[in-house]
Amino acid sequence: MVKLFKHLQNLFFDNTCPSCKKNILIKNEYICLQCIYSLPKTNNYLKPNNSAEVMMAGRFPFERIATYCIFSKEGTLQPLIHSLKYKNNKNIGLQLGRMFGKDIHNSSFVETVDFIVPVPLHKKKLKSRGYNQSEIIAEGISSAISKSLSNDNLIREIHNPSQTKLSKSQRWDNVEGIFKLTNPDQYNNKHILLVDDIITTGSTIEACAKALLEAKNIKISVATIGEAIYL
Ligand SMILES: [Zn+2]
Repeated sequence: MVKLFKHLQNLFFDNTCPSCKKNILIKNEYICLQCIYSLPKTNNYLKPNNSAEVMMAGRFPFERIATYCIFSKEGTLQPLIHSLKYKNNKNIGLQLGRMFGKDIHNSSFVETVDFIVPVPLHKKKLKSRGYNQSEIIAEGISSAISKSLSNDNLIREIHNPSQTKLSKSQRWDNVEGIFKLTNPDQYNNKHILLVDDIITTGSTIEACAKALLEAKNIKISVATIGEAIYL
């Protein structure tokens, strides 16, 4: 009977934490409390010259680069991002975005943000995956900080293979010039919060920023959920 009940419960409410595989009993929560508490948060959103900013220094002008958690292969975040990217688990991205958004909500760099812009996927990739994981995260952040999402100006023109097996210089060659603003004037004098899932070498962020700089007097900040600590 207990087994049957569990089976029925799972049919209607199949909600396991992708990180530890335990059942979650709270509605609209997709990461268990234990895993939320064990997320290796960087809390770097108020720290000038944090490690992500040091990595990006001199590559393009930015206001602030904030990362939510350290991303490592064996860490708590890895299965969450995997579930978001490859298992159609959009709720994970929304929840991570909301949690990060709540943390950064009252910081001064966020107050002046005009648009939240996700790193775009090429339309071919968007079609095969069905959604852009960075846009899902951006939606979560947007709901927490009450700033508008802008997802149709910055576009990815060239479809490129996955970057995960490329070296740092190959990654840059792979993304340089592939992003474009369709309407640069929309971002004139605006502060953009560029959102991605993971920052690794920063080459994708840099390539997006270079495209954003087509707008006049634009300010750029960056928010990513993961900051990879391996290359
Ligand atoms: Zn868990």
